[in-house]
Amino acid sequence: MYRTHTCGELRLSDAGKTVTLSGWVQRVRKMGGMTFIDLRDRYGITQLVFNQETDANLCEQANKIGREYVLQVKGTVGERFSKNDKMPTGDIEITVSELRVLNEALTPPFTIEENTDGGDELRMKFRYLDLRRETVRRNLELRHKFCLEVRHFLDSKGFLEIETPVLVGSTPEGARDFIVPSRMNPGSFYALPQSPQTLKQLLMVAGMDRYFQIVKCFRDEDLRADRQPEFTQIDCEMSFVEQDDIIRVFEALTKHLFKTVRGVDLGEEPFLRLSWEECMRRFGSDKPDMRFGMEFVELMDTLKGTGEFGVFNDAAYIGGICAPNCAVYTRKQLDELTNFVRSPQIGAKGLVYARVQEDGTVKSSVDKFYSPEVLNTLKDKMQAAPGDLILILSGDDANRTRKQLCELRLLMGSRLGLRDKNKFSLLWVVDFPMFEWSDEQQRLMAMHHPFTAPKPEDIPLLDTDPASVKANAYDMVCNGVEVGGGSIRIHDAVLQAKIFDILGFTPEQAQAQFGFLMNAFKYGAPPHGGLAYGLDRFVSLFAGLDSIRDVIAFPKNNAGRDVMLDAPAPVAQAQLDELQIALAKKD
Ligand code: ASP
Repeated sequence: MYRTHTCGELRLSDAGKTVTLSGWVQRVRKMGGMTFIDLRDRYGITQLVFNQETDANLCEQANKIGREYVLQVKGTVGERFSKNDKMPTGDIEITVSELRVLNEALTPPFTIEENTDGGDELRMKFRYLDLRRETVRRNLELRHKFCLEVRHFLDSKGFLEIETPVLVGSTPEGARDFIVPSRMNPGSFYALPQSPQTLKQLLMVAGMDRYFQIVKCFRDEDLRADRQPEFTQIDCEMSFVEQDDIIRVFEALTKHLFKTVRGVDLGEEPFLRLSWEECMRRFGSDKPDMRFGMEFVELMDTLKGTGEFGVFNDAAYIGGICAPNCAVYTRKQLDELTNFVRSPQIGAKGLVYARVQEDGTVKSSVDKFYSPEVLNTLKDKMQAAPGDLILILSGDDANRTRKQLCELRLLMGSRLGLRDKNKFSLLWVVDFPMFEWSDEQQRLMAMHHPFTAPKPEDIPLLDTDPASVKANAYDMVCNGVEVGGGSIRIHDAVLQAKIFDILGFTPEQAQAQFGFLMNAFKYGAPPHGGLAYGLDRFVSLFAGLDSIRDVIAFPKNNAGRDVMLDAPAPVAQAQLDELQIALAKKD
């Protein structure tokens, strides 16, 4: 037997017992004639003690042991002289009588402590060592608990977990596909699923009624902190449902997860629902962070044409936010904000500000262009109080300017400490536009995906004004993060063909790529709809982390590389030949 107990479970009530423990050496300390070793496993840390006086030989052996050695020890549980109330096992120690080194270890390249000295790249290269750290391990435990509760809940509601294949054809979700060459079909390629979208719809045609799957999805797109080339979805689909039915079930799932996994009671009230248009108008984002206010106020009437300021007089949109208690900002702080909005990622031309002074008068960076009356109207319109700082952006494209103002709002929210990671604010964003125009492709693109149903009342507009059609699509947003999204689907082959046509597919292209789905719809497709949660994002929100990498056991870096496995990597010429693939010559 390698062990009788784990390193996390012995207490004072076990004093006197003879036990065997196995684990890794966290730390070795020599004090006078005593040697102390902290032994660690997944469950905790237990202090081992070796005494020079009572067993010089054993103590000698212990003194040769280094960090991360794997040990097995036998000994007696005793009360500790100086107790450590920060450790659950802090009242006891093991007086060791037998010591066996199960494996030696090289000195790890970084310290395996809460505050490690290892940089990101190094920790990724030695991820198996990073995973020994308690903080990282905790995230995986949280993820496990989360998945378990998802399964419990959905099972209790009659959902079946069904696996779908990984080697498939293209499943468009708006990203680039990862493709896999087929040796048995030279010149042909599989695509890895961007999501199981079409397959889960086929499962509905097959009568499965309620499906879910915790599933890997693959999208070849540029990476950010909350994106990985492979990520996990909780993918769900239901038959004979309308939008409200889906919202009801998944709101209940979300509340269940918050309660059982995060210990947060979100109450009985349904989540707020806002239309996409309202979100854009009030927050400049389709995933507004509702933990704080600072809503946009449109200022076109107040500032356009009411003074000599040319920038505002030419603007298509002027909007402001009001930051409480920020009128005290120094010139330098205001310059920082200006530099922020002017940075290439944000791209605004400049920032106008107005301070509401203690006496209620307004002092702004555009004073010379406006009368005190106009500035007073500005103050009223913004409902600003003495001490407030009004920040204003303008531009010739309303949507772009709103997005810039959204970034400024989020920055001010963070600065004012209004984005508390232990506070959760959830909402549904509904009534998304069906399409968005792509300048790059010079065509309408599906805003969600091509299988999303238009609002029934908007169907006639598909012929006359498709850009104005709204979709039966919804996103769940938590703290400014889109945690899930879905839609009611088209279940009619004719309507689906029409949407492909609007999206620029010829009937032949649509048939070649999606014939299987449109044909299936001809064999009795039930009305259906669903959604998918981004599991990594959701768990990282629960863990209070900004990056999803920390909740993934073996993540990729920003360049999509696995630095531990050194992938992707070139393959042998013989493999390429077998696949009949020739690489283009580099100049
Ligand atoms: N397949 C969609 C996605 O990956 C989710 C859905 O519509 O159910 O975003």
